[in-house]
Order: sequence, then structure tokens, then C-alpha cells
Amino acid sequence: MKAYGSLVLFLGFLVLVKVQAGVLDNRIDQFELDESAGEESCNLPDDLRQEIKGYQSIVNKIIGRIVDGEFAGQTWNSLAELVDTFGARLSGSEQLEKAIDYVVDQMQHDQLENVHTENATVPHWVRGYESAQLVAPFKKNLALLGLGTSVGTPRGGIIADVIAVESFKEFEALTVEQVKGKIVVFVPQWESYGKTVVYRSKGASVASKKGAVATLIRSVTPFSIGSPHTGGQDYDEGVKKIPSACITVEDAEMILRKYRRGDRLTIHLEMEDRNLEPFVSRNTIGELVGTTYTNSSVVVVSGHLDSWDVGVGAMDDGGGALISWKALTFLKAMGLRAKRTIRAILWTGEEEGLWGGRAYKEEHKENEKKEFNFFFESDIGTFEPRGLDFTGNKDAECIFREIVKLMSPINATDFETPSDGGPDISHWTTRGFPGASLMNKNEKYFWFHHSAGDSMAVEDPKTLDKCAALWAAAAYVVADLSISMPKDVVD
Ligand SMILES: [Zn+2]
Repeated sequence: MKAYGSLVLFLGFLVLVKVQAGVLDNRIDQFELDESAGEESCNLPDDLRQEIKGYQSIVNKIIGRIVDGEFAGQTWNSLAELVDTFGARLSGSEQLEKAIDYVVDQMQHDQLENVHTENATVPHWVRGYESAQLVAPFKKNLALLGLGTSVGTPRGGIIADVIAVESFKEFEALTVEQVKGKIVVFVPQWESYGKTVVYRSKGASVASKKGAVATLIRSVTPFSIGSPHTGGQDYDEGVKKIPSACITVEDAEMILRKYRRGDRLTIHLEMEDRNLEPFVSRNTIGELVGTTYTNSSVVVVSGHLDSWDVGVGAMDDGGGALISWKALTFLKAMGLRAKRTIRAILWTGEEEGLWGGRAYKEEHKENEKKEFNFFFESDIGTFEPRGLDFTGNKDAECIFREIVKLMSPINATDFETPSDGGPDISHWTTRGFPGASLMNKNEKYFWFHHSAGDSMAVEDPKTLDKCAALWAAAAYVVADLSISMPKDVVD
């Protein structure tokens, strides 16, 4: 996940325009709404509640077949085959495009319907040779990873003295004279990804404004065994573009300690990273066409196929992409076809700024209220599933609360709200479309995130089965209900 700040807050400012698209039952209007309260404020019509409860046996069947039946282990095996065949899948890379072709073939092999790709223009940044060495007061190689969109250094690199600070606030107190010509090392303490990532995304711009020649940033992770973590960054408009990379927690903290003791530190930094022309990549799509609605009221299940170029992106977001694809494969093999179409979308270009989702939104904008019913996204790990994180209006929330209760066979009945849905589906959920993100026991997610440690070793076959089962069952119920999910969409 790229995870921007709290898109959720945006919802609070929306002037809501009610558009209940599709076949919406009048029963919904009977709800007593209390936006501040939780489940106790739900007053679902009894027949709707009973209808949802009626899906328990089919949910049990889906879970049984995927977790303990003939589909057990298939999701992990397919993910392993994907990442072992193509490796990392950076935007603009041949590896990503080959992986897309492969998934198209495999979706067809799985007999998904309307399998195709849709173009999306993505940034094309490439990592070159990278090296950083502390040259004084003693020599030490510093493991580093340049950040997406970072420029490189001049040939031969930069040798400069260091300024180390813990926060932007501390940096503010420094003058241009103090910063000019220096390499600024930001060493923020980990608070949460959402809070701490701003140093990675904005550190270079902040430092450049005072004349810094490069920035090195403490990797955005709560835990480290000496590995740097990459990720995206942006240059502010008009700012001089300076090289920016993440270094390990251990090195960053050592540099800060020494700097604070008054040591003069000098670093030799060399990076050949560069930005090429934008590249036309593709979102990958397969469907299980609905019995009643074919191209309206679609239920989307999604994850992103692209990854960073270190590790193999098994966790971020191979797992999310695979459960989205395999949920349809398993439903199809079971002969289960819902009233509405379930559409798996494997986004491209997520890591460098949600480009796949953005292109898809633009391309499908005209009839979007009619076309889309609900959006699922898994991009925060596929560890042991806990439940679903919901965003949408109160009517949809009350329905969704009942659906999540059906997931008791895998103990995945937690329900939280609101979330921003997920990075790519935020293109819709922040505007009032209902959506959900896979909640899982992902306490260790950021240990591996965007690092060489993002590999198959992080993914567990049984856990992936449970995630796929949850995905398939929840998507099926939403897609098969007698009513569409209510939504309040802002134009
Ligand atoms: Zn991701």
C-alpha cells in the first residue's frame, strides 16, 4: 500500500447527494439513522436481516471448499509461481508487463469471463547503482534504497557533511547557512505509517528548500534487522530535485546520536537512479458475470499487481491481488454465480501514486454510479483475517455489519469503520461509494513492507486460504443480495 494520510477526514466535508442506484428496495428508507452510533443504531428490516442470515450455509460451503477442500493451498501456490517466475514488478518494468500477460493467460485458463486489460499510464522510475558510505569520522558502508522518483547524484557522487534531525520541527530551527551544501538525515521515530511516512514522501522537498544537496531518511518501519525500506516520494513544485534515499533504522539512529554529540560526519553518496518517460501499463481484469445484472451494479474485488523492485512483492501486494483473482476462480469452479457481476481488478502503478486506480476511475466515470455497487480492496497484508474494515453510508454499514457476521467459521467477524477503503479504491470510497478493506493480523506488515524481506516467506498457505475464502464469500453475498448497496456519491 502507498497509504496517504487520512482520506477518511475528507468524508466529513462531503455535501452528500443521495443517489441510490440500481434496484434499491424501499425498505432501506425505513432505517433510523444515527451517524454517530454503531450497531445499536441499525434498524434493519427483519426480512432483510433474515435474507442475509440465509446466506450462512452458502458461506460455510465457500469457506469449507477453499480452506479445507480441494482449493486449499492453491492461492499460495499460484502466488509463489507468479513471484518465482517474474520477481519484483516495478511500474514501467518488463517484469510487471510480463506478469500482467501471465495473469491474463491464467485467468482465461481459470475460465474467468471478460478477461482483458485496460491501459493506465504510470511513472517509469529506475533504480541505478546506489552506494552510501560514512567516510568520517570512521568508514562504514550504509545500506540504502533510493526512493521512487528520486533523481540520482552527479557522476562520482556527492561528498558532504551531515546534518541530522529527528523532526521537521527541529529542522525548521536551522538556517539556510547551516543547511546549504549538506546531506540532511531525517531520523523520525516510528509513530504509525500514516504519520511517519511524511518524512519519506516530503523530506527531500523540505531539505532542498534550505539548500541541502541530498536527504537520507530513517526507513519507515517499526522494526529492523539492518534492511532499508524503499517507497515513493514527491518533489514540491519548483523545488530543486535532490537525491533521496532511505537508510536503515540502525544507521540513522547512530548518525543522529553522533551528530548530537557534536561529531562531524561526512558521507559519500552515489545514486544513478533516474526518471524515464511515463509508460503505458495495464490494469488486469476478469469477471464472473452476474445472472441478472451484467455490466451494472458491479462488485469489485481488488489488489495491486505492481510492487517495488526489492523483494518480490509477495505481501505488497501479491497476496491481495491473488485472493481477488482466486476468489472468482473458486466461485466459478463451485458453480456459484451471483445476481451481480463480480469483477476482479489487479491494479497497476499503485506504488508510485495509485495510477492504475486513477486511470480506471477516469475511464469509467461517465456511468460510474450505475456501473459500481461495491469495492473491496486488500492491500494491507494477507495475514490471519480478522474481518472487514468498512466505509460507506449508514444504510450500507448496517447491511454490511450483518454480512460480516457470516464469517464466523473463520473467526473473521470484526467490523470497523470508517476506513478509507484502501489506496486504489479511495478514488471511489472518498466520494461516497461503499467499500471494504481486508482486516488481518498485520502487526508485522511494516517489518517487511517495501524491503528485500517482502517474499513468500511472509505468506502462509492456510492464512491465504482463509483470506481468499473471506473475499469470495463476502463478495458473493454482496453481489447476490436482493438490493444494491446504498450509497451517497458526491459528483
Ligand atoms: Zn501496496
